Amino acid sequence: VFSVVKEGAPIEVFALTKAYQDDSYEKKVNLGVGAYRTEKGTPWVLPVVRQAEKMLAADETLNKEYLPVLGFEKFSAAATTMLLGSDSQALLENRAFGVQALSGTGSLRVAAEFLARQLGYTTYFVSVPTWENHNLVFKNAGFVEGRTYRYWNETKRGLDLEGMLDDLRSAPDKSVVILHACAHNPTGCDPTQEQWKLIADVVEEKKMFPILDCAYQGFASGDLDKDAWSVRYFATRGFEFFCCQSFAKNFGLYNERIGNLTCVVKNASVVTNVKSQLTLIVRGMYSNPPSHGARIVAHVLSDPQLFEEWKGCIKTMASRVIEMRKSLREALEKLGTPGSWEHITSQIGMFSYTGLNEQQSLHMVNNFHVYMLRSGRISMCGLTPGNVDYVANAIYETITN
Ligand code: PMP
Repeated sequence: VFSVVKEGAPIEVFALTKAYQDDSYEKKVNLGVGAYRTEKGTPWVLPVVRQAEKMLAADETLNKEYLPVLGFEKFSAAATTMLLGSDSQALLENRAFGVQALSGTGSLRVAAEFLARQLGYTTYFVSVPTWENHNLVFKNAGFVEGRTYRYWNETKRGLDLEGMLDDLRSAPDKSVVILHACAHNPTGCDPTQEQWKLIADVVEEKKMFPILDCAYQGFASGDLDKDAWSVRYFATRGFEFFCCQSFAKNFGLYNERIGNLTCVVKNASVVTNVKSQLTLIVRGMYSNPPSHGARIVAHVLSDPQLFEEWKGCIKTMASRVIEMRKSLREALEKLGTPGSWEHITSQIGMFSYTGLNEQQSLHMVNNFHVYMLRSGRISMCGLTPGNVDYVANAIYETITN
């Protein structure tokens, strides 16, 4: 039976990591994967996470029974509050609630399944470029048509607002639009607050259903409130929407698969029915979620001292990324690398869209052992004070060759 199966396309970012691991070159650099690294280039378990894990391990009242289908309520309530803010009108009016999900991806999948099955949506819009998994998640959830809106202007290396608004204006009735709440992946380029208002105007005018994909709250700027601005703005404007939160980056809990689907509705009376259908969706996919990540996040968010410590960890991560942006730009400018490198410091979050084309990006991998995506995206977290000059030099050599 299996002989009919054709080989599927490789997933670029995982293939790149494998190639990096197999490479024996001493100066190799991995700028592919989106995971935080310390100044020494090693993975970091946040000290506050270790502390929470020790407390949880010592608590013998905890057991391994199933969580409810929609997850650990203390976690989802804390996550929803962290996102919308404790003064959120939607929360105060019981019009917002959270559902624990399998990290950001699982949260997107639950949202997409709900929109396709319960509300009959068939078309979604994503930015060009976007996190490539959006398409697979939405298609697998039953969406028929994936459309795009312009986002990145190659020439000015910034947001193509006019193109974006025009493409959204051409949306058919009943479309879903996926927006990156902060630290757009892969460009690192976010709309300003004024631009968000114009985007929201078109989303409203076209009656699109917004999904805000929030994978980097706190990680982007170091400030939880600032990074949640777009989400809170959509809530204040009275939109009904989903927001898919990931705790992979801001808690460093990549492999714990911990996320939250925040649902904001207009009328609290629909909440029971919506929750009941979300319950059936989760039940049919994986029955109920795991508890470890949920307990860690709930513990940290509900303990004022641990919460402060966590905010310190977020600042450490965000500041290191910002420092590396400055260093890379400086090094490129010092070498006299042709072109403007201002975008390296104006972009935010984990990724930078360097502006290197596919051929140049492949040249970086093949000739300099600097592993980066074909699109020219690099993860700033892979840069360290020890390798930034080597990477800048590789970019210089690649561009001037
Ligand atoms: N959305 C975006 C835009 C992302 O960048 C990521 C992380 N790469 C995710 C969602 C989901 O990641 P995870 O499932 O690991 O939380």
